[in-house]
Amino acid sequence: MEAWMEQLQESVDTLDRLKTMINVTAEEEYAIAALKTRWGSTPYFVSLMDRDDPGCPIRKQVIPSLKEKENVHGIPNYLIWKENRDTEEIRPDSIARQYNDRIAFTVTDMCANYCRHCFRKELVVDRDLKLRMDVEEGLRWIREHEEIRDVLITGGDPFILSDDKIDYLIRKLREIPHIEMIRFGTRTPIVLPQRITTGLQRVLEGFHRVPIWVNTQCNHPKEITEETARAVYDLLRCGVNVGNQAVLLKGINDDVQTFKALHQKLLSIRIRPYYVFYCEPAPGIDHFRTPVEKGAELIRDAIRGHTTGLAQPMYVIATNIGKIPLMPDYYIVDKDEKEYTLRNYQGKLTRMPNIQE
Ligand code: SF4
Repeated sequence: MEAWMEQLQESVDTLDRLKTMINVTAEEEYAIAALKTRWGSTPYFVSLMDRDDPGCPIRKQVIPSLKEKENVHGIPNYLIWKENRDTEEIRPDSIARQYNDRIAFTVTDMCANYCRHCFRKELVVDRDLKLRMDVEEGLRWIREHEEIRDVLITGGDPFILSDDKIDYLIRKLREIPHIEMIRFGTRTPIVLPQRITTGLQRVLEGFHRVPIWVNTQCNHPKEITEETARAVYDLLRCGVNVGNQAVLLKGINDDVQTFKALHQKLLSIRIRPYYVFYCEPAPGIDHFRTPVEKGAELIRDAIRGHTTGLAQPMYVIATNIGKIPLMPDYYIVDKDEKEYTLRNYQGKLTRMPNIQE
C-alpha cells in the first residue's frame, strides 16, 4: 500500500490513538467525547503537534473544542447562503457559483484533516448538509455552460480521490472546448505531503492547453516541513503552480511575528502566498474569528515593505457576492488637482503627480 493510503487508513481520529501521540488535556478529552462531529488527521500532521501544549497551532486546528458549541455570529445554513444554493438558477448540488465565468465543483466531502475552522464545516465536518456529489451530473452542467472557463475542483479534499478518478476529472474537463484552466483546492501538500506520489505526478504532468493550478492551505509556519517542500517541488516539476490560501485564525496566526514567518517560509519552499481569508461566519467557529481589520493591519505591519513583495497575499473576505479585498488603505494620505501625497510602510511621505484624464 502506498504511504499516503496508509496515512489515511491510520488516521488519528479516536481519543485512544491521539493519546499515543500527545498528552491530551482533560478539556480536549471532554470535547472529543461531547461533540458529535467528524474530526481527525493524518499521523504525519499529528506528529507535528506539541505533545504538551494545548495552545499548539496544529492542535487547535485538529482537536475539537467545546467552543464549537457556541454560536453568536455564525450564519445558520451558511453554505446555502454563501454558495448561492437557493437562487433560481438550477444547478447540480456539486456546482457552487458566485461568478459568471468560473465555478467550484465539489467532488467529495472527505478530507485528510478535518479542520476545526472549516467554512464548509456543515458539509465536511458536522455533516448537517448533504449534497449529491454526482461527478457526471456536474460535468454535464459544465459542458452545457459555455461561459464557464475556469473550474475549481474542491471538496472536501479532491486529492483524497484515487489517481484514476483525478485523471478522469482532468481528462473530461480538458475535452470541454470552453474550459481554459483547472484549479484544485487541496490541503494535502500540508497535511498529507505523501499524496504527491509519482503516480499522481504522472496524472498532473505535461504541457497542455488547459493548465492545472493548485492552491493549498497553510496557516502556520510550523506546518511546513522538508516533506512539504519536496511535495511542492514535485508539483512544480509537473508544471503545476502552487499557491497558498491561509485563513486568518485568532490565536494561531494573528500576530505580526507568526504572520510574517508564515509568508516568508511559504516562499522559501516555492509556495506563492495568494490569499489570506477572513475566517468566514460559518456556525460554531466564532472562537477563530478576529475583527475584520486585523488582516489588513497584519499586511501593513508584517508584510508590505517589511519583506519580499512576492510574500504578499491579498487579504479578502469571501461572501455570497464574491470575494471582497480588505487591504490596508493608509497609502494615499492626500490628493489635490496637482498631486498625491503617499505614505510608505515606515510612515514616510512622498509626492507623485496627479495626471488628469
Ligand atoms: S481540508 Fe479544506 S475542506 Fe477539508 S476540513 Fe480542512 S478546510 Fe475544510
